[in-house]
Amino acid sequence: MKNGTSVQTAIRETETSAMTIKKVSVSRVDQVDLENPGFGKVFSDHMFSLDYQGGQWQSPQIIPFGKIEILPSLATLHYGQALFEGMKAFNDSNGGVNIFRPDQHQERINKSCRRMCIPEIDGDTFMEALEELIRLDHKWVPTKRGNALYIRPFVFATDEDLSVKASNTYRFLIITSPVGAYYKEGINPVSLITPDKYVRSVKGGTGNIKATGNYGPTILPARKAKEEGFTQVLWLDAKEHKYVEEVGTMNIFFKIGGRLITPPLEGSILGGITRDSVIHLAQDWGVAVEERSISIDEVFEASENGTLEEAFGTGTAAVISPVGRIQHNEKVLTTDEDTIGPFAKKLYDEITGIQYGERPDRFDWLHHVTTD
Ligand SMILES: *Cc1c(COP(=O)(O)O)cnc(C)c1O
Repeated sequence: MKNGTSVQTAIRETETSAMTIKKVSVSRVDQVDLENPGFGKVFSDHMFSLDYQGGQWQSPQIIPFGKIEILPSLATLHYGQALFEGMKAFNDSNGGVNIFRPDQHQERINKSCRRMCIPEIDGDTFMEALEELIRLDHKWVPTKRGNALYIRPFVFATDEDLSVKASNTYRFLIITSPVGAYYKEGINPVSLITPDKYVRSVKGGTGNIKATGNYGPTILPARKAKEEGFTQVLWLDAKEHKYVEEVGTMNIFFKIGGRLITPPLEGSILGGITRDSVIHLAQDWGVAVEERSISIDEVFEASENGTLEEAFGTGTAAVISPVGRIQHNEKVLTTDEDTIGPFAKKLYDEITGIQYGERPDRFDWLHHVTTD
C-alpha cells in the first residue's frame, strides 16, 4: 500500500471529546533528512483537523497529512479571513518532547480569532490536539541540537461564497514540519534596511495578530531589501516613519547603556512569545527592560556615541537573531558584524537550553510530552 494511505482507525476518548485518529500505514519519516530538513519544506505523517459548522466546532480528528479539497469559491482565497500560529517542539535531552509555551500560543490564536470574527478554539481541545499529534509523530522531532519540529496551527473560512462577511464554516488544521535554522546565517548577524515607503502595520489594523493577510504584502519590501544586499526589512511606524517596530517577522531589541529596550505593544506590533521570554529572562538577570517607543534616530545616536551594545530580533523560528548592520536612508550602522553579541548569546543559550531540557525550566515554559 502507498505511503500516506490510512488503514488503522481508532477513537481516543479525551477529556473533552472523542478524537478520531486515522494513522498512516507506513511512515514517511525514513525518507527525510532530519539533520538538514530546511524550513517548512517537509511535513510529518499526520495532521489535526477540526471543522466548524452549525454554530459549533465538530469532533476532532487526526488524519494523514495530505491534500485538502477546496472549491474556487472558497471565501478564504478571496478575502483572507484566516490566521495562523507558529510554535516549536524540541527533543528533550532526557527523553520525550518539549513544546515551548503552548498555552501562550493558544491564548494568542484566540486573540487572532476574535479580531478576525472566527469562532475561538477551546483551550483543552487545542492542547489535546498538540499532545496527540506530537506523540503520534514524535519520530519526526529532530534530535540534532538546533533543529526542532515546527508546529503550524491555522484556521480559515470555508464558506463557498463571494460576499464579504464572516463565514459560517471554518477549518482548523495543525500541521508539523521538522526544521533547521530559519536564516542561512544561523545565529550569525543579519543585516537590515528600513523601507523608504512601505509599512507593515497600523494601529487599529491587524499587525498585532497573526492574520494571514499581514504577510503577503511584506514579500515585495523583503525582496527589495534582498536585492540591495540585506537579509531583512526593519519596519518603522506607519504614521511618522520614525519609530522602530519589528524586524521581518521578529520583534526587535536594542541593548543601550546596559538597558534592554523594545518597542511597546500598542496595536501595530505582534506580541511575540519569544519577546516575552526575553523580557522575563532579562528582568530575572537584573537587566533593566524598557518597553517604550524608540526612534531609528535614537538607535543611530546610540551607535555614534558608543552606547549601542547590541541589537537582535526574536521569534520562534530563529529564537534570537543578532543584527549586525542597519541601513536607514543613506546612513549605515554596524554592531557586532561578524558574531553574536554576548547578551544575545546568553539569551540564546538560556532559551534553547530550556527548550532542549538541558537547563532548568524555571518559568514553567515547557509542556512535556512523553513518547514511549
Ligand atoms: C510570529 C511573529 C513574531 C514572533 O512571535 P513569536 O511568538 O516570538 O514567534 C514577531 N513578529 C511577527 C510579525 C510575527 O508574525
